[in-house]
Amino acid sequence: KNLRVAFIGLGAMGGPMAQHLLSAQFEVTGFDLSAEARERFAAVGGVPAETVAEAFNGADVAVTMLPNGKVVQDALFKDGAWQSLSADALVIDMSSSAPNDTRELAERLHQKGLRLVDAPVSGGVKRAVEGSLTIMAGGASDDIDQADPILCAMGGQIFRTGPIGSGHAMKAINNFVSGAGVLAAIEGVLLGRTFGLDPRTIVDILNSSSGKNNATEVKMKQFILSETFGSGFALGLMAKDIRIAADLSKALNLQLPTLAGTADAWDAARHALGPDVDHTKIAQFVKDQA
Ligand code: NAD
Repeated sequence: KNLRVAFIGLGAMGGPMAQHLLSAQFEVTGFDLSAEARERFAAVGGVPAETVAEAFNGADVAVTMLPNGKVVQDALFKDGAWQSLSADALVIDMSSSAPNDTRELAERLHQKGLRLVDAPVSGGVKRAVEGSLTIMAGGASDDIDQADPILCAMGGQIFRTGPIGSGHAMKAINNFVSGAGVLAAIEGVLLGRTFGLDPRTIVDILNSSSGKNNATEVKMKQFILSETFGSGFALGLMAKDIRIAADLSKALNLQLPTLAGTADAWDAARHALGPDVDHTKIAQFVKDQA
């Protein structure tokens, strides 16, 4: 029988991801708080629902792609929405949630006879549209086996990271390294430009040298120097992810000064610019502070 999938969160990432499930012939019912997101989903052949419970109606699998783990728990448990899922449904949280929230959610779901896999993604809107996301999956291996056809429809590479929450821990680590790289690239270019170097030349040389990273290879020219700031990943989401990594280091009693400083810088930028601007706008904040 064809798996029935409920997809909750049809935003910048969830929209194109759900579209790949439709292309792979899954029966997908979707819900998002935003009417515009629901309309976009309907326009590509999805069945939009008016509530989470309506989307869940008899679904074998629930996929969540929401801002954070708290929102995921709300969506599943508010008004008893989970009761509309099929009896032993699998929940796949693909949001970038905090690993400790994920463990708590797994426990809550378990008590209801439901199972959870955490399967956050990397690659941004571009690779969500291509269906070539990197996916990091945590949970019981039988559950990940069951999730696999769904994950394969959206992802290029699927890594199994270990027990529940380990995918979300890995995602926070990735975004710490990525977010630190963005700041280093911005500060490096600002330093060079102030000295008198040409910014595009700086980026070209970094990319031909040991200083290259995703920010120098993609974000710097495409979104920052061009001042288009259109990566599709919000500043508030990046700040949240790096704070998750910083909280994790605290919980594990590790002093990691670069992580702490990176989390503080992204939080300060979120405070100054608001959570909804593109995360690449942190370049303006760095410049103003400098
Ligand atoms: P987004 O803001 O574009 O989408 C989130 C969607 O969730 C919105 O459409 C919003 O209306 C909806 N929503 C919020 N609360 C809801 C609720 N209670 N019920 C139903 N819908 C609700 O964000 P996004 O960029 O798609 O990010 C989603 C997740 O993926 C986040 O955890 C983010 O950190 C992560 N992520 C984003 C990117 C990226 O490049 N944008 C990349 C990797 C991971």
